[in-house]
Amino acid sequence: MNIICYGSSSKGNGYILQGQKQTLLIEAGLPTSNLRKHIKDFSAIQGCLISHKHGDHAKYMGDIMKMGIPVYTNQDTWENCSTSTKIGSHIAALEQIEIGEFSVIPMYANHDVPCFSFLINHEEMGNLLFITDSSGFNYTFDDINHVMIECNWSEECLQEALIEGRTNEYVARRSRETHMGLDVMLDYLKSEDLAKNTNEVILLHLSHENSDENQFIKIVSENLNKKVYVAKNGLNLNINLN
Ligand SMILES: [Zn+2]
Ligand SMILES: [Zn+2]
Repeated sequence: MNIICYGSSSKGNGYILQGQKQTLLIEAGLPTSNLRKHIKDFSAIQGCLISHKHGDHAKYMGDIMKMGIPVYTNQDTWENCSTSTKIGSHIAALEQIEIGEFSVIPMYANHDVPCFSFLINHEEMGNLLFITDSSGFNYTFDDINHVMIECNWSEECLQEALIEGRTNEYVARRSRETHMGLDVMLDYLKSEDLAKNTNEVILLHLSHENSDENQFIKIVSENLNKKVYVAKNGLNLNINLN
């Protein structure tokens, strides 16, 4: 199983879980032409999970459906899509669904619109926890093999950006209230030793102004003693269990 990223920011999010036989897409915030660069066999695509209706995650949801790929998301996002012929379905929080060989449990995150996080299982990779656009997260697990989690801002970067005029109080408040910051993320992953069975942590959705990629990697790897990566266009990571 490989995690491929073709975008992870407020400019657009797109991830591919590419297994030996089957592929699952996560998010549709960038043009579908990006998929052609990474996926040779489109018939392997089982579906596309979408966390919420914001454009950087769902703008191309209709295009995904037009390709014949079923979309699975919450009701708010589903109803927000104006495509005439919809493929897929809206799904309910905490109800497990099977998408080909992938088992998925959606859980509500803490954003300003209904937003799903996902626990995804596949025999090649074990359990993957995916959390984006969430100021915090309360669910705990004891067997997470891979973590993809938002790390949008840090208090230090926010303060620096405020002083230098690169951001304003409104953006700072919105960041704190609706996106995950470095400290909250670390506290969450350290709580109940959540990452004890985790092979790697992939940081998502870093803010352009309010983050520091190298500093974040250093702090998170020192705190968790895990391999840490930042998701961005071109990341391609094998996450097979063995
Ligand atoms: Zn977003
Ligand atoms: Zn959002």
